Amino acid sequence: MENNQEKKQTVLSLIQPTGTPTLGNYLGALKNWKNMSDSYDCFFGVADLHSITVRPNPADLRRRTTEMYALLLALGLDPHKNTVFVQSHVPAHAQLAWILDCYTQFGEASRMTQFKDKSEKHPDNVNVGLFAYPVLMAADILLYQTDFVPIGIDQKQHLEITRNIADRFNGLYGNTFKLPEPFIGKSGAKIMSLQEPTKKMSKSDTNPKAFISVLDDDNTIMKKIKSAVTDSEARVYRKDGKDGVNNLMGIYSCCTGKTDEEIEKEFDGKGYGDFKTAVGEAVCDELRPLREEYNRLIDDKAYLTECMKEGAEKASYTAERTLRKAMKKVGFLQI
Ligand code: ATP
Ligand code: MG
Repeated sequence: MENNQEKKQTVLSLIQPTGTPTLGNYLGALKNWKNMSDSYDCFFGVADLHSITVRPNPADLRRRTTEMYALLLALGLDPHKNTVFVQSHVPAHAQLAWILDCYTQFGEASRMTQFKDKSEKHPDNVNVGLFAYPVLMAADILLYQTDFVPIGIDQKQHLEITRNIADRFNGLYGNTFKLPEPFIGKSGAKIMSLQEPTKKMSKSDTNPKAFISVLDDDNTIMKKIKSAVTDSEARVYRKDGKDGVNNLMGIYSCCTGKTDEEIEKEFDGKGYGDFKTAVGEAVCDELRPLREEYNRLIDDKAYLTECMKEGAEKASYTAERTLRKAMKKVGFLQI
């Protein structure tokens, strides 16, 4: 009988509307979202609250939020089966974040490497929001009693602080939040910049040659892969220090499913020219269907708005249950 089916475990992940996602976001996070969407109860969203730490132009933020949302649907996520929402449409995120701020120590938040990196990148705007970013992320995750959070390796430290905050709160008030586990895909966990392969590929990089956007056309993708930084050895194999080649091998492996050994064999005796052509073509094949579906969806604003409303309603239902529980525990008067 169907009715004794086990309850599905919960998955949550958000992405900031700070630019078009890169191949790094796609292989590190988005592709896993799609893969998990059937077997889990999924909450996927556009983290617009997070993105104002870098003070985007308001019109840009509105446009990018819609674009990112369309892209999530273009991945093949089903907005009726899964919950696909915009973070600011669910006020519980900001409300729980304030509560959790008061259960997070200044010292532990100061140790976050993303805070250090981003303050260096934007020395003119080191705001309190940037500092409190991991606490908002903790609220995002804890509101849904999340089991798994599919993320790239760069977010692992934020997941650890989330667990610490939840554990501290549960210790003080009794079980309130489920402790989430990271879900980090093996091969795409950290895709590096094509121009500085010791740094992660990032969609807010100021040099567009450093990243491939998931909406780049075939021609642009080929050009960017061809100008990716490698080394002078001209041999395709994995070794510490061959950062550029290691990165391209990782990308090729994610797109084709081939192992390092198979890739080394395939390009034995060939130079970087042949290798880069193959990597470029594999990336084009991987991204083409996503781009085509996105182009279809982005013109259908009415449909996107309808899905956003449904997502906000479903997300709020779950989020508010947890928020009310937390508010009660800390002693806010219920009326
Ligand atoms: P920003 O520079 O604005 O922070 P970002 O590229 O880091 O942009 P986020 O929105 O912060 O993107 O992250 C979205 C998801 O993509 C997260 O799960 C993150 O771990 C993952 N991710 C980001 N960069 C990479 C990368 N280079 N390789 C693999 N995964 C990544
Ligand atoms: Mg980031």
